[in-house]
Amino acid sequence: MGYNVAIDGPAGAGKSTIAKLVAKKKGYIYVDTGAMYRGLAIHFLKKKADPEDRQAVAEACRDAEVTIGYEDGVQQIYLNGENVTGMLRTEEVGNMASKTSAIPEVREKLLELQRSLAREKDVIMDGRDIGTNILPNADVKIYLTASVETRARRRYDELKEKGTDCSLDEIARDIRERDERDMTREIAPLKKAEDAILVDSSDMTIQQVVDEICGYCR
Ligand code: C5P
Repeated sequence: MGYNVAIDGPAGAGKSTIAKLVAKKKGYIYVDTGAMYRGLAIHFLKKKADPEDRQAVAEACRDAEVTIGYEDGVQQIYLNGENVTGMLRTEEVGNMASKTSAIPEVREKLLELQRSLAREKDVIMDGRDIGTNILPNADVKIYLTASVETRARRRYDELKEKGTDCSLDEIARDIRERDERDMTREIAPLKKAEDAILVDSSDMTIQQVVDEICGYCR
């Protein structure tokens, strides 16, 4: 069994930024489970599956194979053998992933892939249900959050920097909707595991969050 750090929390809390830095400092492998849901979402978009139609999504799952690899230490997502890493981070894919991740067949499909990675390697794995469901015996569990305003502002600044036109209000609305969906779904909803450490990064710098989390880890 590898040494396992679980890091869960809502959209835009900074999980991936923080987890990558902790991984580098501690020599763990960073596993981004959201990217796996996004990889499947690309398949559903290609197949034009309606995310509200559980049957259709479950059906579409059958001919999707998501695997992961690493190039220069950076996680790559393969969908039926094709590297789709560059296509994962659009709003369209994020929304499809958020909707379809509530479907049991979709979660079932990724569960064993996630658990097997943690069995073999020292990992820091980020997602929504890692501490509660995927790795209930993780060595360290972190629940990383921040206020909606802070998360929306970070996302807004990031998009502006890339030159994308966007509205702060719309981003905040999108974040609220996504939180609501992730927290209220029947299967593996986003919630803090009882034994997770709560870290609210609203008034913290990236470095402060990384230092705090590294302090909990071996
Ligand atoms: O973290 P990221 O925004 O990339 O995740 C995309 C979507 O995948 C989330 O909105 C969430 O609904 C879903 N997800 C999940 N369980 C995980 C990781 C992501 O349900 N462990």
